[in-house]
Amino acid sequence: MRIPLASPAAWLRIWGAILVVLAPGAILAARQRGAGPVPGGPPASELRRLAEGVYADIVGPDGDAVANAGVVVLASGVLIFDSHYSAEAAKALEDKVKAVTPRPVRYLVNSHFHPDHTHGNQAFAGVRQIIGSTAARRDMLQKDQPALNRMQVIAQAQVEQLSRELSQEKEAGRQEALRAQLNSRQAFMRRLSNLRIVPPLMTLDDTLAIEDGDRRVELRFLGAAHTEGDIILFLPREKIAFLGDLFFHEAIPNVEDAVVLDWMKALGEALKLDAVTFVPGHGPVGGRQDLEDFLRYFEDLKTMVEPAVARGDSLELLVQDARVPPRYAAHAFQNFFPSNLQKMYVELKSAQAAAAPKGKIIKVPRP
Ligand SMILES: [Zn+2]
Repeated sequence: MRIPLASPAAWLRIWGAILVVLAPGAILAARQRGAGPVPGGPPASELRRLAEGVYADIVGPDGDAVANAGVVVLASGVLIFDSHYSAEAAKALEDKVKAVTPRPVRYLVNSHFHPDHTHGNQAFAGVRQIIGSTAARRDMLQKDQPALNRMQVIAQAQVEQLSRELSQEKEAGRQEALRAQLNSRQAFMRRLSNLRIVPPLMTLDDTLAIEDGDRRVELRFLGAAHTEGDIILFLPREKIAFLGDLFFHEAIPNVEDAVVLDWMKALGEALKLDAVTFVPGHGPVGGRQDLEDFLRYFEDLKTMVEPAVARGDSLELLVQDARVPPRYAAHAFQNFFPSNLQKMYVELKSAQAAAAPKGKIIKVPRP
């Protein structure tokens, strides 16, 4: 059986939404080549100081890090919030941390299970305090690890197929093209075989506070949102909140594993925090107004979809006619918009069905 080489679209379906995040940028091309960070290429991320001992590692559009991370220097050591997409990007972050403090990394927190926030964990494998929600640990073990295993099988089959084709090919130009494909797939396979899924070792379902020196760190679960297990990091004294993918700033959100109506409630909870700085999982550091604008995006989406659900329009009709509202037309990840519409439609439809009268119960008199 001929096994098709994974097209970007197939690859995205196989490994979930993170790879959709990669699609718009040059990083996808780099990853298809099986490349790591390009030597001399753009920096994966930039460490931005938010307060004394508090940093956001904000990713560049073409780097290898993909999602933002956070760094909090405590009296006994350093806490890292999210580990980027690869061990290389995580190692680069660790090197930047070493440049600002001699203290060792003591804690690693995963905001949720998505690979762009957790695949760098292996670079911090010596850190015993790897913290995440119970759902994030479950999903890394039950979703991410099997996805990696499947990808390894597919990549191996592709390498074998390309090797066979190359050995039978007589035409020089075609041989060269096949050889390039084979090299790319082999590099990709090496990348996969070096990847270790390292789930959180300590889990929480509600809140966890770390008091270390004069720093207080609060980890909070605000309800199902972007995934079933997002946790945020709040620094009450510094009024800084790292929100992970609860907050997409200047970007259309990835809703692949989300419950959007619950996500709106969680954003309402995040807005109750006494914070002035909100660090998103994707996009630049924001303020309160930016987070309010993100909630408004979902409200606008709901307003767009509600009449279609009330009229009984099909999802196909809705997606066919709907356009990204001009207010959000410059946002990153425009390719997520149809899935946003779809998710909102499905949730509103099921809310409508749940609210519908169930029919009259007619009591039959006993004979
Ligand atoms: Zn995510």
